[in-house]
Amino acid sequence: MAKVLCVLYDDPTDGHPAAYARDDVPVIDHYPGGQTAPTPAAVDFTPGHLLGSVSGELGLRSFLESAGHTLVVTSDKDAEGSVFERELADADVVISQPFWPAYLTPERIAGAKNLKLAITAGIGSDHVDLDAAIAHGVTVAEVTYSNSISVAEHVVMTILSLVRNYLPSHQVVRDGGWNIADCVARSYDLEGMHVGTVAAGRIGLAVLRRLAPFDVKLHYTDRYRLPRETEEELGLTFHESTGDMVPFCDVVTINAPLHPETEGLFGDELIATMKRGAYLINTARARIADRDAIDRALRSGRLAGYGGDVWYPQPAPSDHPWRTMPHHGMTPHISGSSLSAQARYAAGTREILEAWLAGKPIRDEYLIVDGGALAGAGAHSYSVNR
Ligand code: NDP
Repeated sequence: MAKVLCVLYDDPTDGHPAAYARDDVPVIDHYPGGQTAPTPAAVDFTPGHLLGSVSGELGLRSFLESAGHTLVVTSDKDAEGSVFERELADADVVISQPFWPAYLTPERIAGAKNLKLAITAGIGSDHVDLDAAIAHGVTVAEVTYSNSISVAEHVVMTILSLVRNYLPSHQVVRDGGWNIADCVARSYDLEGMHVGTVAAGRIGLAVLRRLAPFDVKLHYTDRYRLPRETEEELGLTFHESTGDMVPFCDVVTINAPLHPETEGLFGDELIATMKRGAYLINTARARIADRDAIDRALRSGRLAGYGGDVWYPQPAPSDHPWRTMPHHGMTPHISGSSLSAQARYAAGTREILEAWLAGKPIRDEYLIVDGGALAGAGAHSYSVNR
């Protein structure tokens, strides 16, 4: 019997919701490109309910316990002696979400003698040390595509809100004011601007598709080039590297995974090559950008805005400079955890567990590490130090 340790974010401050703003969420059974949405044998939750917090338990308790497995759910993950650290000692499976990552460091992986499977309920497994997972034979899987469109919508929202100066203008209303000039002195149209994405994978391409109707000029860079038909359909300009692309862009959106090639990419040097007054949106991973270089660029006016939802570490400390720097549109890490997305990644987590517990293969598109090597989706998008 397996012990499954699930690390989830805290419940709402006033308790698990008794009612919801809407009665349903649309059913999505396929993603762009044809991949099917998760296909577990069954689910024990109501789509559209809060599943990602401790009381939601990703809807897994009755499924696991009825088969004799143990489920431990906690939000206590970082302090020394945390529930996560204690329970990890004999856990077979660890599940966590990038929004509230259970950091599986090399030391923790070495100490977790029974650990065989680390599931990311969502996308992005950089909170797991992939080199250590490879060395210890731990399988790493994530629910590929489950929240890619959710993030793409957040990116488009953030671009528009920064370029049009939405958040400060909204604050004027909340504060009882009406100074139009205060609002519009930093407000522009997106139309005609050059927008570039670092990576055109699932999220990056979805962002490009959503922005095309705004009559912008679209750019991208990626390790592999998109098919020519896609480039022509969207009018894309390809650049060999991020460095080649950013000097052309009014808006840059980062949609690449965090791995050795991308860590610290947006530092002082690269930012100095961007247009003065460019906007940078990062919903990928915080450490792709240099924390203090971003703060400096906003204060000096080199960047006109920075937005996104990814921080390091998470939760971000109260004195993190990105909370107080000017002209930012940051949120906590929420873009991929809408109620709509939760229904998909909870179902995907269940699908992965069903397969693994039955000794059946996990879908190739969900695999990041397996059999002591990068595998499936991971072999395509990640790199490791070995
Ligand atoms: P995909 O794997 O579909 O796309 C990632 C793309 O990045 C691939 O096309 C990959 O290239 C490309 N890439 C990798 N390294 C580089 C590089 N050095 N330069 C340029 N391109 C590179 O992933 P998704 O689009 O689904 O997600 C992207 C990232 O977004 C995730 O890794 C995760 O970190 C983040 N994310 C954030 C969420 C949030 O809630 N904020 C939720 C979901 C994801 P290729 O495949 O051609 O090698």
